[in-house]
Amino acid sequence: MAAKKIAIIGKQCVACGRCVRECPLGALSIYKGLRARVEAQRCVGCGKCEKVCPAAIIEIKERQVIPNAEKALV
Ligand code: SF4
Ligand code: SF4
Repeated sequence: MAAKKIAIIGKQCVACGRCVRECPLGALSIYKGLRARVEAQRCVGCGKCEKVCPAAIIEIKERQVIPNAEKALV
């Protein structure tokens, strides 16, 4: 079963990479050197990245299930 929560990265990300190093599942990466990005299929919403972000811009949120598309989790 898919995880119910997911990390959401705020727009103010400064691409420091701390969250990327902290994630035990390799769900985070720095996209084009600009900001952190979450790979939705890997993230389990554990919150480890949220705790280390110096800018405090990571939020752990409930995933939204899109009706009639059970596999499409955001
Ligand atoms: S919530 Fe956990 S699994 Fe998801 S990106 Fe953050 S550290 Fe990785
Ligand atoms: S720890 Fe925070 S500021 Fe640093 S890359 Fe991750 S989301 Fe961006």
